[in-house]
Amino acid sequence: TAPTLPVTLTHHFADTLPELAVEWQAEPAPDPQLLVLNEPLAVELGLDPAWLRTDDGVRFLVGDLLPDGARPVAQGYAGHQFGGYSPRLGDGRALLLGELTDPAGRLRDLHLKGSGRTPFSRGGDGFAVVGPMLREYVVSEAMHALGIPTTRSLAVVATGRAVQRDWSMPGALLVRVASSHLRVGSFQYARALTAQPGPRSGDLGLLHRLVDHAISRHHPAAADADDPALALLEAVVAAQADLVAQWMLVGFVHGVMNTDNVTISGETIDYGPCAFLEAFDPTTTFSSIDEGGRYAYGNQPQITEWNLARLAEAILPLLHDDEAEAITIATTALHGFRPRYAAAWDAGWRAKLGLAPESSPASEEVVTGLLELLQTDHPDLTSFLVHLRDGTARDHVLDIAAFDAWHERWVALGPDHDLMARTNPVRVPRNHLVEAALTAADAGDLTSLAPLLEAVTAPYGDRPDRPDLAAYAEPGPAGEGYVT
Ligand code: AMP
Ligand code: MG
Ligand code: MG
Repeated sequence: TAPTLPVTLTHHFADTLPELAVEWQAEPAPDPQLLVLNEPLAVELGLDPAWLRTDDGVRFLVGDLLPDGARPVAQGYAGHQFGGYSPRLGDGRALLLGELTDPAGRLRDLHLKGSGRTPFSRGGDGFAVVGPMLREYVVSEAMHALGIPTTRSLAVVATGRAVQRDWSMPGALLVRVASSHLRVGSFQYARALTAQPGPRSGDLGLLHRLVDHAISRHHPAAADADDPALALLEAVVAAQADLVAQWMLVGFVHGVMNTDNVTISGETIDYGPCAFLEAFDPTTTFSSIDEGGRYAYGNQPQITEWNLARLAEAILPLLHDDEAEAITIATTALHGFRPRYAAAWDAGWRAKLGLAPESSPASEEVVTGLLELLQTDHPDLTSFLVHLRDGTARDHVLDIAAFDAWHERWVALGPDHDLMARTNPVRVPRNHLVEAALTAADAGDLTSLAPLLEAVTAPYGDRPDRPDLAAYAEPGPAGEGYVT
């Protein structure tokens, strides 16, 4: 008989939104081996790390051993991929195992990525490989340590299955934790279902249920608004404006900002060909499939706004019976994006420059001046800001006269160096070091994973006691290219 597991999974999503859920099971992993377990996160979730390391615990992590009452589902969603609409994407290699209530009472999704084919797989094999799953683990945990809303990574488990890519690669799956997996694409999918001719046509019940579910999980204040659907849209606009501002401030390039990769919660999701900017250049892209540079660093705020417009379109019939009225209401809500983003970006820069939180003409001039310096000089973003604090930035710029003029104005504002230390990370996932660790891991060598994780999950503050972590604070060799 099956053991009783020390974990309870609920299925509110599947119960509430059956149209968006297909009951499914993970493909059994031939020889599961835990590659990395996030013990602090396990504890935060109320899971015992020691149990997760047992054979039963690992079988639970790969979806092979389920607690009584669990009902894993593949989630349906649509999405605009690089601007083109796909009506049916969905979890083609992923499963929502269920929701867990953490000791703080929060509902958290437990999700597998790389767990085998589902009815949404289309041409794909449903699997994932070690390198990319470790990349998501490393970068998502780095983002969390930077204080940026994100899905979390509980574990990466090698499955023991050889997966065919350009050549045969070791298979793995990621155990992901999120405040939910609701995306803009979930709303697009629900809207498309209601728009289909047939018995469900014109029935907005599904969209209403999805809005109510999203409100109760993420934006509960919207429930009391005169128009909850509008209030939800406004809350998502605000959360996404704040999120993309935080990405921009640390130089994070997501890489695949398709509408299926934009959450309703405001968490960063789906780490594919993502990376951190080194030389400051708004046209930077790291994804070899992003040929037009649609998702380049400098385009991210605009693309977020575009993605939010797709959310507004999806819920349009809930905003007003008259379509022209509904469009006016949606447009007004979307107009909240730019000022919200600008405020978060400007306030973020004032903090990074150690300046007072209130804006003044002098601080605006200093922030604008710094951005001009970055644009013309292209220094390594992360280390330049560290050098500003430690007084050595002048050694790292090309236009010394321009720097000196700016520096004088900045110093006159009396920058707070302790604030700078708290707002400018020293150690970020440097592309060349991430690549080196993942390449070694693919070949079975996990030795550089632990120091990498140690460095990027404690990004702030100098570590003179740890010369071995110094490389994580330095730019990589020039010309580091694509992330695949
Ligand atoms: P992503 O690029 O991870 O956001 O995925 C986009 C879509 O492709 C989603 O519907 C995924 O489920 C699907 N997908 C990605 N990789 C695979 C795979 N190996 N097998 C099946 N579906 C996949
Ligand atoms: Mg995705
Ligand atoms: Mg992906």
